[in-house]
Amino acid sequence: METKDIKAFGTEAAEAPLKTLDIKRRAVQAHDVEIEILYCGICHSDLHSARNEWHGTMYPIVPGHEIVGRVTKVGDHVKNFKVGQLAGVGCMVDSCRECDHCKNDLEQYCDEGSILTFNSPDKHLGGHTFGGYSQSIVVDENYVLHISDKLDLAGVAPLLCAGITTYSPLKHWKVGPGQKVGIVGIGGLGHMGIKLAKAMGAHVVVFTTSLSKFEAAKELGADEVVLSTDPEQMAKHSKSLNFILDCVSAEHNIDSYLNLLKVDGTLTLVGAPMEPLPVTSFSLLLGRRSFAGSAIGGIAETQEMLDFCAEHNITADIELIGVNEVNDAYERLLKGDIKYRFVIDMASLK
Ligand SMILES: [Zn+2]
Ligand SMILES: [Zn+2]
Repeated sequence: METKDIKAFGTEAAEAPLKTLDIKRRAVQAHDVEIEILYCGICHSDLHSARNEWHGTMYPIVPGHEIVGRVTKVGDHVKNFKVGQLAGVGCMVDSCRECDHCKNDLEQYCDEGSILTFNSPDKHLGGHTFGGYSQSIVVDENYVLHISDKLDLAGVAPLLCAGITTYSPLKHWKVGPGQKVGIVGIGGLGHMGIKLAKAMGAHVVVFTTSLSKFEAAKELGADEVVLSTDPEQMAKHSKSLNFILDCVSAEHNIDSYLNLLKVDGTLTLVGAPMEPLPVTSFSLLLGRRSFAGSAIGGIAETQEMLDFCAEHNITADIELIGVNEVNDAYERLLKGDIKYRFVIDMASLK
């Protein structure tokens, strides 16, 4: 298959810093869209994968799955995209398209495993897929999203992972007006959760371990902020929440949050702590509560989320950086020193 050489930013080893690399993209096929990448967000999973912390990383790796850019070429059979339009790519670039989940717009739960934007087997070129820290990407149009030109494009990039990861469970558990919804943690995910739950009409209560984040949570739209380390403040919300979106990726006490749920309430995890989280049976039994999880969202739902954000003027709060700042950004990410998402200006990749 014909290929095109492009520049990317990635690494050849877990211990090595990221640097400029040369990679190949396939030539545009009948159903493909080629996108010049303008912005790419930095997700925690980029860092975990680059450093092989979740194991199974194939090197060289080019991370990045919060991609916004402009269409530069389309294949002969492409129906929904035209050269010059804005386009986005999130965490997936393909899936089997035949299993029940793919047929029901749940490609993220494909039985065969969806093809992720980076570090998945590349069925076209062999080897593995390369992500958005790069000049361009070629993706089947069925896995490409339309991006509104109404919003700040750099701020839109994180919607492709952090946005859909929080939107999908809020929708699935039918968050809306008249409900009290808890958001645990104010990071890349949590800050999107606050904005989206608020826009859906819920009364939003934010839980944080840090007094210093109270103001920030209010600015993001929180109706109330609770210091989760203070048992008295926690007790005030006992058995009062309809739904909790838990965005924390570190060890934390799930029971103390389950006990804030009303009867039939659900706590859904979107953070990914490495260690198992203990749950006391009675926290679930007494109140018929559910402890659930959720992973990104399907392609149709991702488009719905992008349209919702355009309608409600929602973008991520970001810090725009050049590729040469990515290694420093990873260190700052580990310290939580970012409000709330780094986005790379891909014009800086030469
Ligand atoms: Zn991500
Ligand atoms: Zn499938």
